[in-house]
Amino acid sequence: MNGGPRVLVVEDEAAIAELIAVNLRYAGYQVALAADSRAAQREIDQQLPDAVVLDWMLPGDSGLTLARRWRTQERTRQVPILMLTARADETDRVAGLDAGADDYIIKPFSSKELLARLRAVLRRRAPHAAGQTITAGALTLDPAAWRVTWGSAPVKLGPTEFKLLHHLLCAPDRVHSRAQLLDKVWGDHVFIEERTVDVHVKRLRESLRNAVGEAGAAAIETVRGAGYRLCARALAAPAQ
Ligand code: CA
Repeated sequence: MNGGPRVLVVEDEAAIAELIAVNLRYAGYQVALAADSRAAQREIDQQLPDAVVLDWMLPGDSGLTLARRWRTQERTRQVPILMLTARADETDRVAGLDAGADDYIIKPFSSKELLARLRAVLRRRAPHAAGQTITAGALTLDPAAWRVTWGSAPVKLGPTEFKLLHHLLCAPDRVHSRAQLLDKVWGDHVFIEERTVDVHVKRLRESLRNAVGEAGAAAIETVRGAGYRLCARALAAPAQ
C-alpha cells in the first residue's frame, strides 16, 4: 500500500497537470488528475482526497465555483484547497481565499514552491495526512516507519487495519460511521459492503488484544447503530 497523502490535481492544461503530477509523485504523494470541474466532482465523490490543487480557470465551472461548493458541503468542508491562478491581481487573490481556498499560488510557479505550500496547507488543515507521528495515551503510530506501539509493546497490523487505526487515531472519541470509514480508509472501492468494515475492525481488535491484552481490544468501541469510536481514555492503559 502506498501511504502518501492523496492529492487531487484539477488542471485543464495537460502539460501543467502532468508536470505537477510528476513532482507530487516524486515527493511521495498519490495523485489523481481531473481536467475539468465535472471530472473533479466525480473524483471527489469517489474518494475524498487529503488535499486539492485547484486551477482557477477551468472549462465549465471555474475553480472558484468548485471551491465555494466544496466548502458548503459537509463531506468536503475540511479538504485543504491550494488554488492555482494566473491572476496576480489582489482582488482576485482575495476572491480565491473568500471562496474557501486555503492558499493560492500564482502561475508560473516552481515545483519547489508548490510542494512547500502544499506541505504547509496539509500541516495546517490535515496534520494526519502530513505523515506525522500520532500519539494518544500509550499508543503511538508512525506512518513513515509503518509502526505502531502501545507503551513498549509493538502492535502488528495488516495494511488495512493500520490505515483504519490511523484514521480513528486522528479523531479519538469521535464516532465514525461505516460509510465514512469506507470513504476514508478504502476509498477507491466504492462497491465494498459496509460489513467489510466490521471484519477489519474485528482484526484490529484482535491485533491490539494480542499486543496488550483486553484493554487493547476495548479501545475500539462499537457505537450501536452509529459506527465505531476509538476511546481515548482506554489508551491510557499500560501494556500487560
Ligand atoms: Ca486552466
